[in-house]
Amino acid sequence: MSPDGEHAVPLAGEDEWVARIASRMGGGRGVVLGIGSDCAALDLEGAQAVVTTDVLVDGRHFVLAECGPAAAAAKAVAVNLSDLAAAGAEPIAYFVGLVLPRDPSAALMDGLVDGFAEAAKAFACPCAGGDTNTGDGPLVIAVTAIGRAGSMGVVTRAGARPGDVLSVTGPLGGSLRGRHLTTRPRLHESRTLVRLRIPHAMMDLSDGLSRDLPRLCRASGVGARVVGERVPVHPDAEAAATPAASALEHALDDGEDFELLVAHGPLDVATRAALDEAGVALVEIGRVEPKARGIRLELRGGSLPLIPRGFDHLRPRA
Ligand SMILES: [Mg+2]
Repeated sequence: MSPDGEHAVPLAGEDEWVARIASRMGGGRGVVLGIGSDCAALDLEGAQAVVTTDVLVDGRHFVLAECGPAAAAAKAVAVNLSDLAAAGAEPIAYFVGLVLPRDPSAALMDGLVDGFAEAAKAFACPCAGGDTNTGDGPLVIAVTAIGRAGSMGVVTRAGARPGDVLSVTGPLGGSLRGRHLTTRPRLHESRTLVRLRIPHAMMDLSDGLSRDLPRLCRASGVGARVVGERVPVHPDAEAAATPAASALEHALDDGEDFELLVAHGPLDVATRAALDEAGVALVEIGRVEPKARGIRLELRGGSLPLIPRGFDHLRPRA
């Protein structure tokens, strides 16, 4: 329900629906022309545009009947902004492509508006346009986010070099217990890391460390060594642990943590103090190695290949 108490209009009234979304967005710095015309216009202030897109499907990335539309909409925005954070970019605006089930309920449409508005406010990134349609399948929410490259330019997965430290910005694993629906893109962490010129390479952990780390290694042409005992294990991973999959396995393999994985040089005392001051954790989990050494997990004094078991949308989960 919108603040003025009006309920969602049926999709025949798409103009009203769009106007309601627009009324909840406000202007963002960088949005010259927002919702209401054929196109939006953004001011990038001479910087490079950084663009990312993610498509979320009911039953796959969220369960609408369980989480409700507001959480689903907010998650769709957050996962895109997480990718901007990974690139060291500042969000400017996002765009939404929606496929609603036929005859969408007022509750569904109200909830989506709430979620998009909440995310816009929480992350200071308004929706500047989009399109809505209906179909016979599940709810589909496609979001495209546009940002402005930060002072290091676009930070990529390439650039890690042997000898670099590998760190993550927070504890991993067990996000399916609910955290994945309240994702906070690590924009503050990204901003701080870029301000301190720390990352050589960076990515967000969306599909699990064991699947995402090899992607960073491939892009950088390097190998890696992860020290199992150093991987910060989230309490949700402890709670999810079973005889079949330990808490550490959850931390290595679960998806949707959205912490940043960073390859960087050694940190001096002043840099550590600046990170502390900003409230940004950088937990060292291993090292970048020459490519020929492969990607390995050190555990209890031994070493074994780190097998990608994270989430792959095109493969059934093992
Ligand atoms: Mg990503």
